[in-house]
Amino acid sequence: MPWVITKLCLDCKDTECAEVCPVDCIYEIQVEDENFPKNMLYIHPAECIDCAACEPACPWQAIFEDSQVPAIFNADIELNAKVFEVHPPEDFTTEVTPISKNPTPEQIAANKAKWGYA
Ligand code: SF4
Ligand code: SF4
Repeated sequence: MPWVITKLCLDCKDTECAEVCPVDCIYEIQVEDENFPKNMLYIHPAECIDCAACEPACPWQAIFEDSQVPAIFNADIELNAKVFEVHPPEDFTTEVTPISKNPTPEQIAANKAKWGYA
């Protein structure tokens, strides 16, 4: 069961997850595509070994096992898979760039509220 990065990552992108992933299967897309925002990361579902290391590392609480993804973020399961079908490997990097590190509890709560997820 691969793990999934949800929209809670969008515009946050702390990148702690990529630092702990033992198989480097968490990627940033380097090309413009309106369907796949650059300001979040994606987990390659075929490369993920289901170790669960990324989930507690994410301060924004953006990562879920695919079977546990909240309904409001269901589309992100497809998004994480599709991006690797549509784009070739050279469009991605594991040298990810953070946007917002070390969020406060208030920032984490506000980000969830923004997506209607409490
Ligand atoms: S740690 Fe969480 S917020 Fe940061 S890049 Fe990974 S999934 Fe996104
Ligand atoms: S579950 Fe493990 S292998 Fe899969 S993305 Fe997270 S850290 Fe990487």
